[in-house]
Amino acid sequence: MKFDDYHINEDIKYNLEKLGFKKPTDIQYKSIPPILRGEDVLAIAQTGTGKTAAFAIPIIHLIHEKKSSKRTDYVKCVVLAPTHELALQITEVFEKIANKTRVKIACIFGGVDQQPQIDTLYKGVDIVIATPGRMFDLQSQGVLDLSKIDILVLDEADHMLDLGFIRDIQDMIHFLPKIRQTLFFSATINENIKKLAYSLVKNAIRIQISPKDPVSRNIQHAVVFIESDDKRFFLERIINEHPESKILIFVRTKVRAERVAKAMERVDIKSLTMHSDKDHEERTKVMNAFKKGTTKILIATDINARGIDIPNVDYVVNYDLPEEPENYVHRVGRTGRGDKKGQAISFCSSEEKPVLKVIETFLHNPIHVIEIDREDRAATIDFAKDNVVKEDLNALLREVEELELKKKKKRKK
Ligand code: ADP
Ligand code: MG
Repeated sequence: MKFDDYHINEDIKYNLEKLGFKKPTDIQYKSIPPILRGEDVLAIAQTGTGKTAAFAIPIIHLIHEKKSSKRTDYVKCVVLAPTHELALQITEVFEKIANKTRVKIACIFGGVDQQPQIDTLYKGVDIVIATPGRMFDLQSQGVLDLSKIDILVLDEADHMLDLGFIRDIQDMIHFLPKIRQTLFFSATINENIKKLAYSLVKNAIRIQISPKDPVSRNIQHAVVFIESDDKRFFLERIINEHPESKILIFVRTKVRAERVAKAMERVDIKSLTMHSDKDHEERTKVMNAFKKGTTKILIATDINARGIDIPNVDYVVNYDLPEEPENYVHRVGRTGRGDKKGQAISFCSSEEKPVLKVIETFLHNPIHVIEIDREDRAATIDFAKDNVVKEDLNALLREVEELELKKKKKRKK
């Protein structure tokens, strides 16, 4: 089946062709028809399998068909996502697919001036793609009216229904029309969240693709046992051995992100960091540099584990194991997207072994272990230590030079 064979608006088909999408991915093939029929859908499919377009295509078609002109009088669809980066990325996909149709789209998120967002809403939009906080703000100020929406989408649904957001989402549902279409999309879901999801929908169609192994088959992933103090030497080695590769490194906390970046800087490796202490502008700058590839090394916390579609990430390194087992799937899922292949490697220290067990239980599979023989281990650490020594030596030489200079000046006097 090709997109050409679908009963969807011709402009949408043209836009898909321009995006290089010829035929639907599995999740698109399975989700588009029920969404077009107005059904509720709970869709679980691996990372990088095109879930965004799986809901964007039918939603844009339905709204386009419903409108007789470009005039927009009310918000018909809300898509919620956990981070600004993801909201912006989804907006970009919607805009490309909706190009030249009657559908108007806006993206709203916190951490920036709200006035431009209010101005956009007043002009009239059909679809709002938002992070929850700012959406509730604007709704409580009476700027955003959700009382007529036809479709609610939760992307990264399990996360959106998890602790931090669930109260907000439940509150929000009171403001929505009782008869509406609700769509949940995610790569992971657990039993509790599944129950919660079902309580919010009517007879949802459940679509699950490759439920047994949540890690995409495009990703080769393995674990290597390395003690905490040695991790930086192994990271240095991986980076130096793959100078052309785009590498995304995940760490446990923002402090560690900065610390690892500093350690890399000391051995002349340039990197960027990404975490919640950075403001919107900085985060956008970092993402753009990494997307373009002007900086090939990005050290991030779990804030960017979900949903982000960065082209050509060759390697994901879990410098620390994630505390939430599902984040393992999301982190490694930043590589091997679409039809690309990717590799992921996790560093596991002795203290992290219990966390590894929890992750493996979540995956229903053990993670392949890469053995490093003693010599190799010693060489990696020694090699890196040599550099440290060299650096110390350089500093010492500089000091000696400066001293000599001072002495010379004194003598001249
Ligand atoms: P997911 O949300 O499942 O992790 P995304 O929606 O971010 O995945 O899509 C992953 C990548 O696949 C994107 O780069 C997107 O452009 C590409 N893609 C999506 N659908 C198709 C398609 N039908 N044909 C080719 N590439 C596609
Ligand atoms: Mg996604």
